[in-house]
Amino acid sequence: MQYNQSDANKLMYVTNRPELVFTEGQGMWLTDHNGKRYLDYLQGWAVNTLGHAPQCIADALAAQSKKLINPSPAFYNEPSIELAKLLTANSVFDRVFFANSGGEANEGAIKLARKWGKKNPAADGSSRFEIITFKHSFHGRTIATMSASGKDGWDTMFAPQVPGFPKAILNDLASVEALIGQHTVAVMLEPVQGEGGVIPASKEFMQGLRRLTKEKNLLLIVDEVQSGMGRTGQLFAYQHSGIEPDIMTLAKGIGGGVPLAALLAREEIACFEAGEQGGTYNGNPLMTAVGVAVLKELLKPGFMEGVRERGQYLRQRSLEISEKYGFEGERGEGLLRAMQLGRDIGPQIVEAARNLEPVGLLLNSPRPNLLRFMPALNVSKEEIDQMFAMLEEVLAKIGK
Ligand SMILES: *Cc1c(COP(=O)(O)O)cnc(C)c1O
Repeated sequence: MQYNQSDANKLMYVTNRPELVFTEGQGMWLTDHNGKRYLDYLQGWAVNTLGHAPQCIADALAAQSKKLINPSPAFYNEPSIELAKLLTANSVFDRVFFANSGGEANEGAIKLARKWGKKNPAADGSSRFEIITFKHSFHGRTIATMSASGKDGWDTMFAPQVPGFPKAILNDLASVEALIGQHTVAVMLEPVQGEGGVIPASKEFMQGLRRLTKEKNLLLIVDEVQSGMGRTGQLFAYQHSGIEPDIMTLAKGIGGGVPLAALLAREEIACFEAGEQGGTYNGNPLMTAVGVAVLKELLKPGFMEGVRERGQYLRQRSLEISEKYGFEGERGEGLLRAMQLGRDIGPQIVEAARNLEPVGLLLNSPRPNLLRFMPALNVSKEEIDQMFAMLEEVLAKIGK
């Protein structure tokens, strides 16, 4: 195909994109309109759990699209019930509401917490509605989830914000405690801050938060949009700290690349009444059939052990490279990891890696001094070695 910038400009401008059109994907590889191949460590932004175009997704889409695409959210359908059964059987949650994006699932979590705070009011009878979130957190791009997010500059971008989201500091329990007031209803966090730079909440912090929220009768909400669905080496990242949250949101990995998200809650928290929550496409069988196919792959014997092994391997290779080039190390959990460069060369590396010939490498730099790796969960050791070989080529090229 011919690349034409003025055609591409028909898409509304929201970000700078390279002058490339991607036309095909298979496993860890993408192909552009010139036929050039790229080793893809973005994987649709940590959504392609099983890589590009896995057979099980193609099969699920084909089979379900011939059977039933959308009976409307007013009726039950088989795949959504099956996926809800699988998710509740493999987590501490009892009830699932399906949505289409992480932002929408988090909106649902905020609404559910506020509803619960109405039913469980402050001492003076007034509704509780404040949700403590964290600096540098990312919860989505709707107005409420932007307000919940702790990204620099987002507080004024589309002012006024939705009120009720005071910001604490990750891994600092005292900073959370200091923000608790009579209208506080919940604490919401990413067990590993993804967009903020791959910063894990410590096990002690997660356990401390659970103790504190129980003691103050607050809900604990985990936003596992990026960290869930096997990404960190456990099916859900909260499982690393052995705690039981009250509410969890999922998106990205749950659809393996298609738009699917979920809001999960324990039975006693799931207090929506008829008409308070919904959505035309929510729980549609086409997307939930894909969710079933993806989750069944993750639940196969040995799959998660493989993720942990390759996460360990990625970490070890990352540390070697870091040492060799005088970087500052690496951090993360499972297959969500970042290399700490110690200087602001991330964007330069990303660009040079994409421009490598004859095959390119796609990387992400969530902060100028970081490189984030978010491969498919079934990435091979060879594809990890290949990535670091290409990265070394880039570092040589740009004079590190
Ligand atoms: C990506 C992300 C979101 C937003 O998900 P969308 O599907 O883009 O709306 C929310 N929370 C976290 C932790 C994310 O990484």
